[in-house]
Amino acid sequence: MFKQLVNECLVDLHIKVEGPVLIKSGLAQVSGPDMAWVRVFRNGREEVYLPGSSLKGVLRSHAERIARTLNPGAACDPFADTSCGRIFDKKKPETAQAYQDACLICKLFGCTGFAGRLATTDAYAVGTPPEPVQRDGVGIDRFSGGAAHGAKFELEVITEGTFETMLHLRNFELWQLALLGFVLQDFSDGLIRIGMGKSRGLGKVCGEVQKTRIDFLGPKAPQVVNGQLTLRGVGSLFDGAGDYGMVSPDEVTVPYDGEVSSNGLRTSVVFPAQTFPWSAIADRWVQRATDFTDLLASERQGGRR
Ligand SMILES: [Zn+2]
Repeated sequence: MFKQLVNECLVDLHIKVEGPVLIKSGLAQVSGPDMAWVRVFRNGREEVYLPGSSLKGVLRSHAERIARTLNPGAACDPFADTSCGRIFDKKKPETAQAYQDACLICKLFGCTGFAGRLATTDAYAVGTPPEPVQRDGVGIDRFSGGAAHGAKFELEVITEGTFETMLHLRNFELWQLALLGFVLQDFSDGLIRIGMGKSRGLGKVCGEVQKTRIDFLGPKAPQVVNGQLTLRGVGSLFDGAGDYGMVSPDEVTVPYDGEVSSNGLRTSVVFPAQTFPWSAIADRWVQRATDFTDLLASERQGGRR
């Protein structure tokens, strides 16, 4: 994507463990449980954490589900030959064209051809990291976490603890911010599970937004005027947005009475706790998903497995 940064959204998110959770280490275990927690060396000791890449994967698949309920064609199947990434592997379009052609989920999370708009940092424990306990893993398939085979083995779970991550959305269109809002709502309602054995009752967590910060940069950065802030998507901030097929103009005005730091080129606003007005932009996502036309439809037909 273009190098110039015109807007960004940073969501400080706490993930609270509400039942047994296992994020499996990719490393082979010489001794100990068959399925061990992924750990990181931090503050002079080893502790469990939630890798940013697996969090991003969980958010992506949930966003796919949300997209398909509105429009089955709005999300490609990332594992199929008909995925945007596989098609771009063969076609090698330039970045603007790839972004224009991609499904809505790839436009947000990325694929071959361009990096995603959303990044998630590794989530570390808030306070003392929880200690994993060993559980008997009968009933959880050791590879997929799905079907049971009856073989007995040991796994490690944590049953308490809170982890903190930062979601970082750069150069977003308003519909992308709105989709993130729907995902966060479901996360807070406990509808998103993480890690192994999701269909067997593991992975229950709750995502709680602590703070949402939005920055606008460049000559078109909006100012807060009379308690009103115009949220601007990239289509209203970047002159080349048309080449990417972005929504343009792309803005919604919301009330804002918080602190503003602004130097004329960068405007920064902060919404504490869960005060970000997601409902004011929700229709941007619904509209975009409903109207979405798959520009790769003919290529997907040809490449179907
Ligand atoms: Zn796609």
